Amino acid sequence: MKTKYLILVPDGMADGPVKALGGKTPLEAARTPGFDRMAREGLVGMARTVPKGVIPGSDVANLAILGLDPARYPLQRGAIEAASIGLPARPDTLYFRVNLITVKNDLIADYSAGHIDTKSAVKLLGLINRQVVLNGSLPAGQARLYGGVGYRHTLAWRAPAPFRSVLMSVHLDGPHDLIGRNVGEVLKPYENIPHVMVMQKSRRVMSAFPFNRGRKSPANMIWLWAQGEGKRLPTLRERFGLSGSVVSGVDLIRGLGKLVGLSVFALKRSTGYYDTDFAEKRMAALRELKQKDFVYLHIEAPDEAGHEKNPRMKKKMIETIDQKVLSPILNEVSAWPDRVRILAMPDHPTSCATGRHTSDPVPYVIWDSKSPRSGPAAFTERLAAKSGRILPAFHLLREKFVQMKEGL
Ligand SMILES: [Zn+2]
Repeated sequence: MKTKYLILVPDGMADGPVKALGGKTPLEAARTPGFDRMAREGLVGMARTVPKGVIPGSDVANLAILGLDPARYPLQRGAIEAASIGLPARPDTLYFRVNLITVKNDLIADYSAGHIDTKSAVKLLGLINRQVVLNGSLPAGQARLYGGVGYRHTLAWRAPAPFRSVLMSVHLDGPHDLIGRNVGEVLKPYENIPHVMVMQKSRRVMSAFPFNRGRKSPANMIWLWAQGEGKRLPTLRERFGLSGSVVSGVDLIRGLGKLVGLSVFALKRSTGYYDTDFAEKRMAALRELKQKDFVYLHIEAPDEAGHEKNPRMKKKMIETIDQKVLSPILNEVSAWPDRVRILAMPDHPTSCATGRHTSDPVPYVIWDSKSPRSGPAAFTERLAAKSGRILPAFHLLREKFVQMKEGL
């Protein structure tokens, strides 16, 4: 009998008690027969996905769920997203996340240039490559822009180590956190750093693009941030002999998947938002699980509801994931001859009270189609904490999920 492994990550699902939900957390308030069945028949506990002192981002937290210690494998968003668009992870190259943004009266007005479409964006990147990045103005190394999706792209800058450390000394926030800020003031401390000079130059050149004429949110600047060197990560095949796929609508998660050797399933109707096609994700996960050993299924919607401080929407998204994804998967794999082991856990809590990620531990549940055991009546933050089990999340994959051959 083969064993198949599925990890389901409802992004940002965990939370604290919410007044609007009668003092329950969204997960407690939601009707979740699938998660609850996993808890009753499985193993429940708490995991720390974010090490102390580290910003609780989805990059760090999902890396930990994939079994790698974020303290040992520090990765920047730029390098992860570069992997998601198929760039090789070169240690001599810095990868920047690039936003096409709108600046109005010197203020950052839109982090997405009016959610510019991919086709227009890629055309503009060609112009920016020619007129800003590749025109010989760079002091060291070779740089080039690569097209991603919508307003999100990558700049790869290959350069000698001392030069890379100069570029690494700049810490700019993402433009979504800088709305209303004065560009000159934000960049002032770094104005002599080469990639910041490239950003400034992009502003002069892009303002004149005919494409921007009459646009409400012109794409009139590139914002370079979250830069990091390419790093090779140990793959799931190297660690556990497993082949697998990642199913996610989010570039960052697809990039992480690629870096650990997973293939990326091309979803057609996934949006990374409330209107994503949940059934498509379920079918993709089941199809990949039939053919391979391992599937990483990530769903963004609860995190978005947390950021929007909307506990009712979060509860609804958790219910939708249970109803359209998890419960049908449990029913189907229960009838498979192969053993199917499922780990369900959020990457981090996203607090409906503050609209932000937190570093608090998250609940996890592991279920095995061939070895039911007896656990708590439901899958909730409180019941998982009551179990008394708590461990760093990067231990979970090896110690509790993959390595235990029989039973749980
Ligand atoms: Zn988030």
